[in-house]
Amino acid sequence: MKKLLLLFICCVIYKQSFCWGFYAHQRINYFAVFLLPPEMMVLYKPNIQFLTDHAVDPDKRRYAVASEGPKHYIDIDHYGSYPWRELPVKYEDAIKKYSRDTVAANGIVPWWIQIMEQRLTTAFKEKDANRILKLSAEIGHYIADSHVPLHANSNHDGQQTNQRGIHGFWESRVPELLAEKDFDFMIGKATYIADIPKYIWSRVRESGAAADSVLKSEAALTKQFSSDRKYSFEERNGKILRQYSSAFTIAYNTMLKGMVERRMRLAIASVASFWYTAWVNAGQPDLKSLKQNAFTEDDLKEFELLDKAWKNSQIKGRIHE
Ligand SMILES: [Zn+2]
Repeated sequence: MKKLLLLFICCVIYKQSFCWGFYAHQRINYFAVFLLPPEMMVLYKPNIQFLTDHAVDPDKRRYAVASEGPKHYIDIDHYGSYPWRELPVKYEDAIKKYSRDTVAANGIVPWWIQIMEQRLTTAFKEKDANRILKLSAEIGHYIADSHVPLHANSNHDGQQTNQRGIHGFWESRVPELLAEKDFDFMIGKATYIADIPKYIWSRVRESGAAADSVLKSEAALTKQFSSDRKYSFEERNGKILRQYSSAFTIAYNTMLKGMVERRMRLAIASVASFWYTAWVNAGQPDLKSLKQNAFTEDDLKEFELLDKAWKNSQIKGRIHE
């Protein structure tokens, strides 16, 4: 009977969260708002709920659009070893060297963030409040992903080293268990980013460099925990889910010396700084006078479609969880 029950539990499909998890993405956009200067706060603060809710739209889009996936990661280990100087930082040079297909297959997050930043700057110049908010919510997502070590490594879910589940463990389980109680989100102010490509590549290189200890620490800790202590079973929404136990999660966080909190704090600062930089580069338009219209039919349809795709269907393209 006990064996049967265990089998049943193990067969329950656990729809994992992905890319920092919905929880962390939403917290990152939320806290980023408080780093902005008052001139921007007039638009961002009243819309903080929108920025929080739509922090996860890019992940939902991965269920609807196959080409969305590569925008969330870069398997930088395919390009040699740290600090990956042989990989050109310009997209055009990278596709010339490795081919467009190879670059797409390995992920394009550092380049995609730069395109999103240009779009956001244009939206500020055009004083289009809805577009500013939509793009701010979404660029926040991609920036946050670029701070996650396993979004910069081909062994993204420990699939090459028998550590499946580690992706969601690092970016969902650890913050969900510890962030509210133990993480400090008093961060300071958004700063102007003078060299955007240099900034984003630095974050991606840090992520790529940290992937090794993310994986090795989990493997080392697993040796100290029997399987029944490593995992626990919890009921959520009427389903019994197997997840990393609190003891294992806390021990892992200690072993990483607070890396998850550090990357989350830096992600918040980066998101706010990209928003701020776009606004400055657009000539610091007066946001007080912006009229915010209701979202268009098309926008609303897109939000609904993303939601439906996420709830109903299989992810398209590579699963990055
Ligand atoms: Zn993502």
